Amino acid sequence: MIGTKKLEAWFVTGSQHLYGAEILKKVDEHAKNIVKGLNATGQLSVKIVLKPVVTTPDEIFRICEEANTTSGVVGLITWMHTFSPAKMWIAGLSVLNKPFVHLHTQFNRDIPWADIDMNFMNLNQSAHGDREFGYISTRMGLERKVIAGHWKDPEVISQLDVWLRSATGWYASKKVKIARFGDNMREVAVTEGDKVDAQIRFGWSVNGYALGDLAAYIRQVSKQAVDHLCQQYEDEYHVMDALRKGGAAYDSLREAARIELGLRAFLEEGGFNGFTDTFENLHGLSQLPGLAVQRLMKDGYGFGAEGDWKTAAMLHIMKTMSRGLPGGNSFMEDYTYHFDPAGMYVLGAHMLEICPSLTNEKPGLEVHPLAIGGKKDPLRLLFNVPQGSAINVSVIDLGTRFRIIVNEVETIDPPEEMPKLPTARVLWRPMPDLKTAAAAWIYAGGSHHTVFSQSLSGEYIRNFAEMAGVEFMLIDKNTSIHNFKNNLRWNAVYYHSL
Ligand code: MN
Repeated sequence: MIGTKKLEAWFVTGSQHLYGAEILKKVDEHAKNIVKGLNATGQLSVKIVLKPVVTTPDEIFRICEEANTTSGVVGLITWMHTFSPAKMWIAGLSVLNKPFVHLHTQFNRDIPWADIDMNFMNLNQSAHGDREFGYISTRMGLERKVIAGHWKDPEVISQLDVWLRSATGWYASKKVKIARFGDNMREVAVTEGDKVDAQIRFGWSVNGYALGDLAAYIRQVSKQAVDHLCQQYEDEYHVMDALRKGGAAYDSLREAARIELGLRAFLEEGGFNGFTDTFENLHGLSQLPGLAVQRLMKDGYGFGAEGDWKTAAMLHIMKTMSRGLPGGNSFMEDYTYHFDPAGMYVLGAHMLEICPSLTNEKPGLEVHPLAIGGKKDPLRLLFNVPQGSAINVSVIDLGTRFRIIVNEVETIDPPEEMPKLPTARVLWRPMPDLKTAAAAWIYAGGSHHTVFSQSLSGEYIRNFAEMAGVEFMLIDKNTSIHNFKNNLRWNAVYYHSL
């Protein structure tokens, strides 16, 4: 996983020579202060690095080229403290292949009413300098984020961090490498897709590997390593009696540990950051990996069940975006409904594979039969998920383009215990309400599989979709079916005209 500590965004201030050296020195000093101030907030997930004020087309071109080829740079923050004639930006912006945010701010928060003169006006003129830059960005059809407001405004700082995290996700997207064990679940449509197009569009490398090769890794795991990991399980979880030493299912615990160690070694050696499996193809494995998948997700790996590589990729990206934020991210499936008019909910779960990053409680480790697949009973971690806001995210392939769909939801405590349900589960109320959200999701073609995130909001994903140049549909508290369907229709026209 990419360490966000090593990542940076470059702060690029535009100006021109018209003002003379004195003013340019002031511009540089102000930019320095802003960068220092932003880094000092401790609220930004990547380091902001000050770059010299750019005043000519050559300087602008060079900084864009350098940003493209410098590892660890997630994007640019641009700001025109003074007027920077924007034809100077055309060459640079034409080659820039990293995202940029246009920070429309001003060094001084307030107008100094008693002292304001033309010198002040000429220095603090981003109100029109940034409009010139905005024009050329729009004229060139460039996707970017515009954040307006004073740079010390907490809302501005928070919006900037959302963008930086989206850019970190985009940076991680280019490095996604998914191993697929088995193909898609047979005859399933929505988890299919064009892997070549996904690599062109998002940078995802997705390739298949033989189950036999994975099985060989699992067979090579040493007895000592299994002993050690079983002990770790005992320390970290409430292990059911049957799985303890001397218990009837102790062998299953050891087998689950062997699967985890073999799978982990395979992924580490291949430099993968996500994977898929399918219960229809487990040749050489005695049980469907449940516990192993849950623990690997907790460590930052993306995962999609039944061959769902799009969800696996998105999960890894969202885990990278949200690093350091409270809450977890998991593979998820809309499983079953509670249609009580007094409170309508979705119960989300999967057969096994829900990430324990979603909970603060100590999970139970249990073994239960799986109704499908015809293999031995798999181990799984069981837990409930605390209340709070969350999102569900789905990436689908429409044949001619990708669409990312987000539904904002409110996780709630289950009104009653579910003692017979042997899987980790989440109960949520979708925004604006279950009936509208489910209908909108279905009109949009959203998958039954999602990435469920407690750390991120729709805004992070919208920024990401814009960086990737793919369609984004949000279902939130303001969604109405009438407008949502119109948006889908308009988007169809928009994307076919590109
Ligand atoms: Mn599924």
